[in-house]
Amino acid sequence: MRVKAQVAMVMHLDKCIGCHTCSVTCKSTWTNRPGTEYMWFNNVETRPGVGYPQEWENQDYYKGGWELKNGKLRLRAGGPITKLMNIFYNPNMGTMDDYYEPWTYDYEHLIDSPKSENLPVARPKSMITGNYMDKPEWGSNWDDDLAGGSEVVSRDPNVKGLQDHIAMEYEKTFMMYLPRICEHCLNPSCVASCPSGALYKRDEDGIVLVDQEECRGWRFCMNGCPYNKVYYNWNTHKAEKCNFCYPRTEAGLPTICSETCVGRIRYIGVVLYDADRVKAAASVEDPQDLYEAQLNCFLDPFDDDVIKAAKEAGINEEWIKGAQESPIYKMAMKWKIALPLHPEYRTLPMVWYVPPLSPIMNHITNEEELNTDGYIPAVDQMRIPISYLASLLSAGDTSVIRKVLLKLTAMRVHMRSVNVGGIDELGKS
Ligand code: SF4
Ligand code: SF4
Repeated sequence: MRVKAQVAMVMHLDKCIGCHTCSVTCKSTWTNRPGTEYMWFNNVETRPGVGYPQEWENQDYYKGGWELKNGKLRLRAGGPITKLMNIFYNPNMGTMDDYYEPWTYDYEHLIDSPKSENLPVARPKSMITGNYMDKPEWGSNWDDDLAGGSEVVSRDPNVKGLQDHIAMEYEKTFMMYLPRICEHCLNPSCVASCPSGALYKRDEDGIVLVDQEECRGWRFCMNGCPYNKVYYNWNTHKAEKCNFCYPRTEAGLPTICSETCVGRIRYIGVVLYDADRVKAAASVEDPQDLYEAQLNCFLDPFDDDVIKAAKEAGINEEWIKGAQESPIYKMAMKWKIALPLHPEYRTLPMVWYVPPLSPIMNHITNEEELNTDGYIPAVDQMRIPISYLASLLSAGDTSVIRKVLLKLTAMRVHMRSVNVGGIDELGKS
């Protein structure tokens, strides 16, 4: 057993209100310099939608991505011509159109521009070229609240098979928010893809960083990361990414996105894992087994053998205690209500999500069903289809999502009966 400590995050999606405060505070802390205008280390996506950068979940050849070959993870290389081209440049790299051209208001003329029938008339200005734009073409959350309608929704690869839910049938639409940061993966493909060895995973807490001195701007990390969470600074010609606010976490403070989160959806904690199990877990053949395989990497922080091995590995008492009190340990490992985002990418991500409950679509009219238990089968009638959540959080295995939603529903019913009386009290007041 090779024990390592890892900082991790769980986001409780039921509580996200899509206010973007986390994105703004992160941006003003980390990416407010020339060259970083289009970067959002933290972004919040409205789902269904194509996300940011556009279609980042599209792991086809042109967007890069990783595949399992002969038991090993490798970057998709394409045919012989592409392999030859790979020697000279990175053909899978995204373009600015996948992100967006950042723009600003023309403050100078905002007030004194000529009168017109429709206001405002001042045109936005590109922050890269300095030219006036007819209109911004795209933004980091263009599909906010289904603004893109069916065109955007149907480009979400997770919507496959859910055509009757696309935005054309508005009475069946659903939406949810998905905040995203770098996953600080146990098996980070960004690190593996860097020819300069500039990306590295810190031994003491698992945070994945880019050494700015070593980075040579190859940009293989940009599509080596299946979550598309590495960016290229056009001013310094170096890669940049979320650093889990390490100057803050080292001082015992939460990340800025967590501290300022309006919905209080973010939980941070330490987990212990066995580094010897990582490779085998990432190589499991069936994608639907990857969630269990990743769970199997984690260690029980109360187990005497684990504590002994952790101490021998140099992990101090404070961190071991932190792992025992960690909300991540409770939500992801003990209660099993948090799940990894796209476990099928095989990088063993360390930002996990509690899936959202949503309103029941059909009224329960049968009086006999209207009891405490009657709410439980209703998870299958929730507005957000279980199959959509499964495509995000369990490689399509709906039984995993169903179990989590049943637990959350049961807890909600229990807490309601504790706080406001049981369902059998209905109508008695
Ligand atoms: Fe690397 Fe991407 Fe994983 Fe972050 S999410 S550690 S950038 S592979
Ligand atoms: Fe959601 Fe919190 Fe971000 Fe607001 S600050 S969008 S509630 S994660």
